[in-house]
Amino acid sequence: MPLNVLIVGAGVAGPALAIFLQGSNPSYNITVLERAPSLRTAGQQIDFKNQAVDVMKKMGILEAVKSLCVHEIGSEIVDSNGKGVASFGITPAGQQGRGLTSEYEIMRGDLVNLLYETSLKQNEKVKQLGKEGGLVYEFGKSLEDLAQDDNGVDVTFSDGQKRRYDIVVAADGYGSRTRRLAFGQEANDEAFKSTGVHAAYYSIPRIEGEGGVAKIYNAHGRRLIVLRPSDRPVTQVLLFTMAEEEKLKKCYKESVEKQKEAFAEIFKDAGWQSDRLLKGLKTCTDLYVNELAQIKMKQLHTGRVVLLGDAGYCPTPFTGMGTLGCFVGAYVLAGELARHGNNVSKAFSAYNETIKTPVEELQKLPSLLGVFLPSSRVGVWILRNLMWAASKFEPLIPRSQGEDPKRWKLPEYPELNLK
Ligand SMILES: Cc1cc2nc3c(=O)[nH]c(=O)nc-3n(C[C@H](O)[C@H](O)[C@H](O)COP(=O)(O)OP(=O)(O)OC[C@H]3O[C@@H](n4cnc5c(N)ncnc54)[C@H](O)[C@@H]3O)c2cc1C
Repeated sequence: MPLNVLIVGAGVAGPALAIFLQGSNPSYNITVLERAPSLRTAGQQIDFKNQAVDVMKKMGILEAVKSLCVHEIGSEIVDSNGKGVASFGITPAGQQGRGLTSEYEIMRGDLVNLLYETSLKQNEKVKQLGKEGGLVYEFGKSLEDLAQDDNGVDVTFSDGQKRRYDIVVAADGYGSRTRRLAFGQEANDEAFKSTGVHAAYYSIPRIEGEGGVAKIYNAHGRRLIVLRPSDRPVTQVLLFTMAEEEKLKKCYKESVEKQKEAFAEIFKDAGWQSDRLLKGLKTCTDLYVNELAQIKMKQLHTGRVVLLGDAGYCPTPFTGMGTLGCFVGAYVLAGELARHGNNVSKAFSAYNETIKTPVEELQKLPSLLGVFLPSSRVGVWILRNLMWAASKFEPLIPRSQGEDPKRWKLPEYPELNLK
């Protein structure tokens, strides 16, 4: 009997898994449940490094991704007058670099759309084959409850519907409710490792003369601003701070207006382009805020529920490895399910073991993250000089080890029937 699969979350990891599962066995019955009423296409630039590129090739989407690239041409650290202090170029996908810009940079929304459309096209082919299985997206519903036994998982959706699945995949992001329901509150809280950094992402109108270089500006008081115009009609704003933690934690449970006010208060005297950025914050419609945290689970599965992507091993945007985690995770999970047939427990254990080293690597953060958000003006001055030195003499500053693609090898799964 083909497996009846529930994937919770139609972000990056969920649709990626659906593509691999259907490719390996068109008879899978797959439901992707998404809490939002339609695809959530908000978000800024995300990049693909190392093995993520190999997985995109295997998924058959690399050429489409190339056509969606935003063509950022490098990054520059600037002072309060906008004067460049240090500049970095583009890092090729399989190499290590210190700058912000990778070879493949696309908008999160474009990626989410691409994966969704690719999965639907594949489903059309499955239908034409006349196979039993299929893929269905259900929007505007979330998972409210689950209970499992040796043979399946009983779930309750937010609209009251009750269903039974052979397996449930939690791909509902770093705040995963499915993780909490399946593993319990205690394991959930233990897994959440805050970096103490809070972030706001949004877009503002582009101004004349803004080129394709990302600008990075540090302000005293533990504040960091990144502007990424790339070749887009709007400029992406990323605000990071380690100030006013309690206030920010509280605002996540409040309205968007309150979240805007909280970030505006912190950045109001940051200097450089802060007036422009805060004016844009007031009127933007795509604000996304969060506390940057890693998810570190002792085990990625319990019974017939398994964690995928940020829900299982969120690395934080500081590593630039979140998408790699989603892609490699989806590939390995589908590969192990295909290899072990309907033996869910063997497949989940093998997934857990195989993904361990990649997860350890992609979660490696710079050991002193706070150094990048100094509190004093002197600290900012020292950091700028260090960055200048790093741009001139590459080996001086340690880079995140997670970026070394040679530390682990992508496993091969002939069972996935990839071209
Ligand atoms: C709107 C949005 C904007 C983002 N912007 C950025 C950004 O600018 N930069 C960056 O680095 N990262 C951003 N991220 C995070 C980034 O997408 C992830 O770190 C990464 O791609 C991992 O993807 P994922 O599929 O595991 O999780 P996500 O991309 O977070 O997707 C999880 C999905 O699950 C859905 N979901 C959550 N709970 C439930 C539930 N109970 N039932 C059903 N569905 C549920 C969510 O609505 C979401 O669509 C953003 C995420 C979102 C959702």
